[in-house]
Parts: sequence; C-alpha cells; structure tokens
Amino acid sequence: MIEGKLALVTGSTSGIGLGIADALAARGANVALNGFGDPAEIERLRADMEKRHGVKVEFEHADLMKTAEVEALVARLVERHGAIDILVNNAGIQHVAPVESFPADRWDAVIALNLSAAFHATRCALPGMRARDWGRIINIASVHGLVASVEKAAYIAAKHGIVGLTKTVALETARTGVTCNAICPGWVLTPLVQKQIDARAAAAGISADEAKVALLSEKQPSQEFVTPQQLGELAIFLCSDAASQVRGVAWAMDGGWTAQ
Ligand code: NAD
Repeated sequence: MIEGKLALVTGSTSGIGLGIADALAARGANVALNGFGDPAEIERLRADMEKRHGVKVEFEHADLMKTAEVEALVARLVERHGAIDILVNNAGIQHVAPVESFPADRWDAVIALNLSAAFHATRCALPGMRARDWGRIINIASVHGLVASVEKAAYIAAKHGIVGLTKTVALETARTGVTCNAICPGWVLTPLVQKQIDARAAAAGISADEAKVALLSEKQPSQEFVTPQQLGELAIFLCSDAASQVRGVAWAMDGGWTAQ
C-alpha cells in the first residue's frame, strides 16, 4: 500500500519523527527526512535507514518556523517526485512557563512550528495529493491537543489548534482518497521530554530517574512511556486501506492519560 510512495516526515532527525520515518521506510516508502542536528549524524541516520530498508531516503534542510522555507521544502519535493503522498507534520518544540511570564517570543515560536508549519505544509502538499486522489496527512498533536496542563499555554493552544486543523482538512477532503488525522501521544521519552525531566530533577533536587517516575505517576496511568516505534505502527495503520474511512480523528496513544 505505501510501497514506493514518498513520505515527508518533518522533525525526523530525532524522537517520534525518526520512529515514524523508520516505520514508513520499513514498509517500503521512500522518505524525506527533515530537522536540525549535526550534519554528520544526520547523514549517518539517512544512510543507515536507506541501507536497512532498501528504500530511497533523502534529507531536506528547512527551518519550518519560516513560512517561505516550508513552502520551498514542499515545492522541491513536489518538483522531484510529482507529489508528497504521505505528509507527517511532526516537528515541534515546547516551552514551560506560567502564562503571566510566558515570553512573547516563545509563544510566537511554538505557534509557528507546532501549528502554522503544519498548515503551510498541508496547503502546499494537498494539490499534489488531490491530483493523485490519494494521500495521507498525519498530524502529531499530543494529549495536550485534548486536555490541558499548567505552564504550557503556547503548546496546548497549538496542539488544540492542530486538532481543529485536522478536522477541517478531513472535511474538505472527505470525498477524496486523501485522509487527515491526528495522533495524540502521551509521554514519550525523547529529547523534548528529557529536558522537562532534567528541569524537574534540578528544581526538586532529585535524580533524573526519580524525576522520570514522578513525571509518569502524575499523568500517565500505565506508568510507562509510549515509544516512537509504537507511534510508527499507528501511523502505518493510518496509511493503510483499512484506515481509508478514518477521517478527522484525534487518536490518543497515551497509557490511559486522557481516560482519567
Ligand atoms: P524531539 O525534540 O525529539 O524532535 C523534534 C524534531 O523537530 C527534531 O528533529 C528537531 O530537529 C525538529 N525541529 C525543531 N525545530 C525545528 C524547526 N524550526 N524546523 C524543522 N525542524 C525542527 O521531540 P519529540 O518528542 O520527538 O516531538 C515530536 C513531536 O511530537 C512534537 O510535535 C511534539 O509536540 C509531539 N509530542 C511529543 C511527546 C513526547 O512525550 N515526546 C508527546 C506528545 C506529542
């Protein structure tokens, strides 16, 4: 089903995006990676994925906080491949602070990357998908697209926003072979979360391991992290024929977080 298709996974040099890109490549999709990091390490990731899965893996640099760079990224891939068949809007950042002292520039940055970049990538990639009458848009939202927590105003606004964007795109494409859905992970142990664990450990004067347990105990009933590999398998399902009538959902994989 996805063999030979082109998948762009934004923010795929690390964490969840890397896990999803790897799962797509393992099923035969050609993958365009994107994200920041050490160029030599990115090249190692790219070549390794290509070799392990026998597909074409390319890396496309773009700072997705800049609208023009999102547009240019999609345009380059469409020119080279005719269309982006699978678009995974995953790149995201976090900033933690109470709303009164939330820095305005961090608000703008979080909204730009976690919400606006997904809108721009979607609007630019959709015409190619419509022309082929097939496409999968998967937005990596969060449990924070469904419920809130303290001190994450920008992130939660962006993630609720992307769930809304997902529903709108799903309705606008409802009579086509293009589907649009959101995945809402709970805690996944990636660099984004490691920073929060380290900050918690420093603030409470506890070890990183103790902070990890405290973090999970607070919100995630399973007390286990979701893994990028598990999220990759959910993305594979959403790309399948069996999921062609899954449209506009915000699908949690969160160890029970939002069941509470
Ligand atoms: P991560 O920090 O491991 O990865 C983020 C990726 O985005 C990296 O590849 C990074 O280079 C890239 N990136 C950062 N700024 C960028 C920019 N301006 N332009 C292009 N790429 C950029 O984080 P992660 O935990 O894997 O998060 C991935 C997504 O999953 C995010 O949208 C995040 O909100 C969401 N999410 C994460 C968790 C979690 O517990 N880790 C839970 C729910 C949702």
